[in-house]
Amino acid sequence: MSSTTSISPAVLIVGAGPVGSVLALTLLKNGIPVRIIDKAGPQIGQKGAGIQPRSLEMHHFLGTLPDFLSVAQSIPICTIYKIPGGTEILKTFELNPHEEPKPDTPYINSMVLGQYRQQSILHRHLKKYGCEVEFHTELRSFEQSDDHVLANIVKKSPDGAEIPEAMKVPYLVGTDGAHSTIRRALGLTFLGDTRDDVSSVIGDIEIKSGLNHETWHFWGEGSTKMVFLIPAEVDKNIFTMMVTGKELDHAKTASGRDELVKTITFVTERNDIEFGDLIWMSHYRPNIRMVNKFGEGRVFVAGDAAHVHSPAGGQGTNSGVQDSFNLGWKLALILKGLSPSSLLNTYTEERLPVIAAMLGKTMDLLNRGRDKPAADESKWKRGTEFKQLGVNYRGSSTLVDETTDLTKELIRSDSYSLASDGVIHAGDRAPQAPDLEDLRANRAATSLFDIFGPDHHTVLIFSSVRSEGEEITSKLSGYSKGLFKTVLILPALSESELIASVKQSSGFDLVLRDGCGHAYKVYPTLPGPCTVIVVRPDGVVGAIVRGIDGLLQYVNGVFVALA
Ligand SMILES: Cc1cc2nc3c(=O)[nH]c(=O)nc-3n(C[C@H](O)[C@H](O)[C@H](O)COP(=O)(O)OP(=O)(O)OC[C@H]3O[C@@H](n4cnc5c(N)ncnc54)[C@H](O)[C@@H]3O)c2cc1C
Repeated sequence: MSSTTSISPAVLIVGAGPVGSVLALTLLKNGIPVRIIDKAGPQIGQKGAGIQPRSLEMHHFLGTLPDFLSVAQSIPICTIYKIPGGTEILKTFELNPHEEPKPDTPYINSMVLGQYRQQSILHRHLKKYGCEVEFHTELRSFEQSDDHVLANIVKKSPDGAEIPEAMKVPYLVGTDGAHSTIRRALGLTFLGDTRDDVSSVIGDIEIKSGLNHETWHFWGEGSTKMVFLIPAEVDKNIFTMMVTGKELDHAKTASGRDELVKTITFVTERNDIEFGDLIWMSHYRPNIRMVNKFGEGRVFVAGDAAHVHSPAGGQGTNSGVQDSFNLGWKLALILKGLSPSSLLNTYTEERLPVIAAMLGKTMDLLNRGRDKPAADESKWKRGTEFKQLGVNYRGSSTLVDETTDLTKELIRSDSYSLASDGVIHAGDRAPQAPDLEDLRANRAATSLFDIFGPDHHTVLIFSSVRSEGEEITSKLSGYSKGLFKTVLILPALSESELIASVKQSSGFDLVLRDGCGHAYKVYPTLPGPCTVIVVRPDGVVGAIVRGIDGLLQYVNGVFVALA
């Protein structure tokens, strides 16, 4: 079969798992046309079901959150059963004790939703932009030059025929999972360990009767033999299972449905559980590995293609989608000719230390819990850093921070958790501030999270002094419309001061009153008439500065100079 050559969209995304899908949606929201291919059909299986609060925030910005929340669940109570017998409760505990949301952290509790459901929501959102995932389409090889990538892809038709295509694209991103073709072809290293000592059998199985859906069910001890059965959120008769422990023959257990059921029955000592179909199963050994850099030239990797680790702590998908969210806006600005290609260096600069810290934390969790008795609650305890709200890029080269008299060491202390000074710095997650009154829209309530977005920088000006802000809006007006959203945030002022401020602030996209003080409380204000805080499209603070000079330093570091 001869190959066709097509002039194609700006980015080819290889792999339509959660990570590729989030990248596609971020680019489409920026007006960048993409193609997204997957060598398989739609994925099956619960797998990466744990969704961390930082990912919920990302879904808020992407507009996918309502669909996620309509089906996702809070993490239920866990029940450990006594052996022998397997029916009497030994202990119940909360894996993630419920926390009350706060104004600056509205999504504070982790949730669960099967990975295949997460993907289908994302794929539905891609369709709104006219983008269909091209299933059964495989990337076989690629070559890159200074100005493009030539990708050789092959589509398999239902009759098994292969239709090759050579696709010329400015950028190629491999979100093609742990066995990434793209990572290998780029020659990126993937150093680390394979943990044969903690192998397990994982998968999803139908349970027709015998177990309730309200709790996660655990039997046995991880050091010898243990079974988890975890009900799915939507398809209530589907349970995720994990069978582990050195007294079990994992290869035999994974050899088929009947062997699996036999092992589960042996460990749980329960004959009253009626099993149905096996959905999928795998003999799994955690690999703990990461790349040395996230790309080369015009080709990048994200998600499992760049890092793999133990599922303990539920960080895999969550970290991968944040790779995509970091990369997406940078690629979009470069493709529009608004940023220099060197901006892409910050993708590795920012994500590599975060992923290195994550590998350390998940490995620690795996090792710490391994030999502890199941009834010991500390075995299951996860630190709050697993919610990923403290993940930060402090010290990254394009950030500008005039807040600080702190030492650089403290600022960069840990890319996974914030330093304990309690002050927001450039590189941190930009917090939410609700109950803001939009003074140009009859004081309608709005919030910062409703203003941030993946296709623009938000410039927050904390000031009641008009002249400073005006200079800022006039400088930014030279950039294309929509690139910056300028927001004047007024403190709680008297009614007459308020009317005067609104009349005098026509240059801003939004004028908000922080009557409840949430924004002024959580964002730092610097000495002087005004503090300017730039929030990047990925919801990260890009700059905290006193005025126009600091702002221009940030802008000149990220964008090409105005003609
Ligand atoms: C038991 C278990 C539990 C887990 N629990 C959690 C959890 O609670 N929370 C969490 O965050 N993570 C969890 N994870 C990790 C999570 O599943 C992965 O990190 C996640 O799937 C990575 O997503 P991805 O999009 O990078 O890769 P994948 O989901 O692996 O998708 C890669 C896609 O690329 C396609 N592909 C591969 N090669 C090619 C090619 N050459 N051409 C075209 N397509 C190609 C594949 O078909 C596949 O669809 C868990 C993992 C396991 C095993």
